[in-house]
Amino acid sequence: MYDLLIKDGQVSDGSGQPLRQVDVAISKDTIARIGTVESKEASRVIHARGRVISPGFIDIHSHADLTLPIEPEAASLIHQGITTAVVGQCGHTLAPLLDKTRTEVIATQTPQGVTLPWEKWSTYESFLNYLTGLKISVNVVPLVGQEQSADRSWDLWREDQRRKK
Ligand SMILES: [Zn+2]
Repeated sequence: MYDLLIKDGQVSDGSGQPLRQVDVAISKDTIARIGTVESKEASRVIHARGRVISPGFIDIHSHADLTLPIEPEAASLIHQGITTAVVGQCGHTLAPLLDKTRTEVIATQTPQGVTLPWEKWSTYESFLNYLTGLKISVNVVPLVGQEQSADRSWDLWREDQRRKK
């Protein structure tokens, strides 16, 4: 007995061939069978005729790391079908928090109107451990922001802040 059966959906096998209509049976978190599966073989059935069945999409340039600490369910990603987010592409991340740039990182990376639990991490590893502990709903491919350790870019930021005052 499968846990879930997605019936009569369109599937691409990635070969460039046209979509084909199949049933996808899932046991726990694993695709157990692709082909023809009877509804009675699963405890839950989703009828997907006219729809595409996909294991999810990868967002290769995401800033989800800024919001995952406060919204681990990542509803906005899941509703778009995104199941994996690559974060840190632009060079800024919430960690590591180095002594010499901690104040600047917090000042520039806190999303507007949000309070982040900055005290929960300092190294990148501790940030990832924090996210893991939140049981976030998406996979994360983390890239360390090179900005955090680039003295010159922070010097420019500080200079810019002084000019604005
Ligand atoms: Zn970006």
